[in-house]
Amino acid sequence: MRRTKIVATMGPATDTPETIEAMILAGVNVVRMNFSHGDPESHRHRAKLVREIARKTGRHVGILGDLQGPKIRIDRFVNGSVILENGNSFILDAEYDRDAGTSDIVGLTYKDLPNDVYEDDVLLLDDGRIVLKVTGVDGSKIFTRVVVGGKLSNNKGINRKNGGLSASALTDKDKEDIKLAAEMNVDFLAVSFPRAAVDLEYARELMKEAGGEGAKIVAKIERAEAIEQPTLDLLIEASDVIMVARGDLGVEIGDARLPETQKMLIKRARELNRVVITATQMMESMIENTIPTRAEVFDVANAVMDGTDAVMLSGETATGKYPAKVVEIMGEICEEAETTAQAKKSDHRMNVMFKRVDESIAMASMYVANHMDIRAIAALTESGATTKWMSRISSGIAIYALTTSEKTCRRVNLYRGVYPVLITHDIPSPMEANRIAVEQLLENGIVKEGDMVIVTKGDLLGIDGGTNMFKMIRVGEHEIY
Ligand code: PGA
Ligand code: MN
Repeated sequence: MRRTKIVATMGPATDTPETIEAMILAGVNVVRMNFSHGDPESHRHRAKLVREIARKTGRHVGILGDLQGPKIRIDRFVNGSVILENGNSFILDAEYDRDAGTSDIVGLTYKDLPNDVYEDDVLLLDDGRIVLKVTGVDGSKIFTRVVVGGKLSNNKGINRKNGGLSASALTDKDKEDIKLAAEMNVDFLAVSFPRAAVDLEYARELMKEAGGEGAKIVAKIERAEAIEQPTLDLLIEASDVIMVARGDLGVEIGDARLPETQKMLIKRARELNRVVITATQMMESMIENTIPTRAEVFDVANAVMDGTDAVMLSGETATGKYPAKVVEIMGEICEEAETTAQAKKSDHRMNVMFKRVDESIAMASMYVANHMDIRAIAALTESGATTKWMSRISSGIAIYALTTSEKTCRRVNLYRGVYPVLITHDIPSPMEANRIAVEQLLENGIVKEGDMVIVTKGDLLGIDGGTNMFKMIRVGEHEIY
């Protein structure tokens, strides 16, 4: 059973119920609605389909709404694209006609960009394919020289090498999309290009105002300055989940620094009890092909060995030819990588003092489970918090989140090694919770007579963070509680 979770981006290629069903059956855990593309109606429609099909197939599938953020883009060209020649001059003009670009000049979506860049800055367009050096700024115009030219088409993104552009993290469009996300009742809300904790706090606040309280906030780490300390820790702590957003981050810091940065980000997120998604170009060649390249197989496996909770598909599912197939193959690569010693070993929290009771119970039960023949851990959990603590320790132990909340089922579905089980029994008293937990595991075919399981719970069920005990139970003897 795969521990690493798969996030798949929805798009035109996933729009039929048959495709969505095939993707869910292939093992998608969370779908991403990318608000950078598509209109509100298409997002609503996709979310509705996903929910219907998840219900029909008996799977819990989370929904992640991903805000576009202040991605800075050029406007459009008269003929859709131009060819830029090395050494030529090229002007980016914030006041230029939006549809009238030529090989000499083009408009800009972010009107403040000319106030933000300086002579000798290096601008990277289209994910770094085109490189421009700023030779001067005058009013609304940025004068540049083409260092690396090539084809440049409409609406391509602009990054500055080494980061530092000051566009605020939430645009007016993002604020509208937060309302849409709240209305769609998304489980996760991703904030693009956050620079500081306040960007995430603001998004959380707006989400709450819009009625979307409880959505987990995902910080996309995609600016050069976001990976500097102390900014990084503050961003991680202000979020619930981080995304290693390798596309934009790679442009800003240089692709060569991505592997070490990915490892650092995954490790730090887990240390701070946060969840982490590794994203972008993981199976890129499968947009067109039926099998991945060897390099892609290694990339997915390496992310698993680094300890990521989830791996993400973008264009591979949103616009690719084989949206269900890519999920299936990615799942197989993850499962195999999880069997390696590196994916299971952990020195997590060996030398730290615990601060909370639920944290201590989670750590203690993982310690026991790793040193005894334990079939599974069953955590009776309201918010899923206990299972998150547990899954910060790398191991091969299956952690079941038993909860009466469907929302919690969808949320824990992003945590590595955690499997949601919706409690369908009544729990008449906390005393009977052990028996009901074990019965639920039996009914789901997770344990059999004679297996040892660990059950964690609180004296008062239904209280967030209330877990204060664990019990070791042999299935078959569980009538005694
Ligand atoms: P995006 O974010 O796909 O929304 O750009 C991910 C990334 O930058 O890697
Ligand atoms: Mn990005």
